[in-house]
Amino acid sequence: VSYPSIVGEILSSGFGIVGFSWICSPACTELEVVVMDWLAKFLKLPSHFLHESEGPGGGVIQGSASEAVLVAVLAAREQAVRRERECHPEQSESEIRGKLIAYSSDQSNSCIEKAGVLAAMPIKLLPAGDDLVLRGAALKEAIERDVAAGLIPVICVATLGTTGTCAYDDIESLSSICEQHQVWLHVDAAYAGGAFALDECAELRRGLDRVDSLNFNLHKFMLVNFDCSAMWLRDANKVIDSFNVDRIYLKHKHEGQTQIPDFRHWQIPLGRRFRALKVWITFRTLGAEGLRAHMRKHIDLAIQFENLVKADERFEVVAPRALGLVCFRAKGDNEVTSQLLQRL
Ligand code: PLP
Repeated sequence: VSYPSIVGEILSSGFGIVGFSWICSPACTELEVVVMDWLAKFLKLPSHFLHESEGPGGGVIQGSASEAVLVAVLAAREQAVRRERECHPEQSESEIRGKLIAYSSDQSNSCIEKAGVLAAMPIKLLPAGDDLVLRGAALKEAIERDVAAGLIPVICVATLGTTGTCAYDDIESLSSICEQHQVWLHVDAAYAGGAFALDECAELRRGLDRVDSLNFNLHKFMLVNFDCSAMWLRDANKVIDSFNVDRIYLKHKHEGQTQIPDFRHWQIPLGRRFRALKVWITFRTLGAEGLRAHMRKHIDLAIQFENLVKADERFEVVAPRALGLVCFRAKGDNEVTSQLLQRL
């Protein structure tokens, strides 16, 4: 967390904005559009994720990665139901819903499995490889088996920077399979996403031009205090169409204008916090270079720590260091590591 971000948070609390819609506080919506495009450029995301580009893409600030994943899962589910109803009008909606199936890796965060519970759609946790990476081959096998059994594949949630070891799923091979089967591909980059901004981590961005949505937490690696999870959609209309529930008291005369999104259709709650303010102040104060320097410092500290672990014969590194994460254990019985963890 950083001082500028806390100032943004205090101002936001002081203004007391509850941004149901654009008309409640044009600044709340419009600054979010601005900072989400800044962030997309900072992270060098494909241009179709920008509000300013032609097309239905754009970004929104959610509270947490869990919410972003749930939004993607729910939207993908509704899109799949509509598609199936068009192709198979003889089937009832409940029949279709009973056949939906989603995928992720056994290394993905607990919030992915939870999204499946909340969406009433099973999420199969596929086995990652020995390097803890999920690849297209495992997804292909699962989808083919499920399609043969009459199920309807809906979404795959891949991870860039898994919680356990910060492993990176193979987005290229996963996207090829998803494209073949009309499966939504979401990337949870909750922790590692900030590193897209670093040229030395450009490899991490490989395949992002083919995904439907992604999220990353500014409150993990980017000096913005909790809560602040950035989410981008290649086609925001798919989310808006899935969640759009209107009332007369929510209408305003600027509805539907480009550059004036009503973010209530992009999220689960109706009201929204003015989170863009803390992102804006953090960026304006620290600058893109300041944020990159902060991330590089974390990575350097991890390298330093990894070297200390390697030089100490009592310990061993158990997975390749990735960004600021070093996974290590005490040699010998697991009980020693458990005790160390308790004491820490
Ligand atoms: N995804 C990954 C990869 C994570 O590491 C975490 C948290 O550690 C989450 C999702 C959940 O994040 P949030 O608390 O913002 O929902």
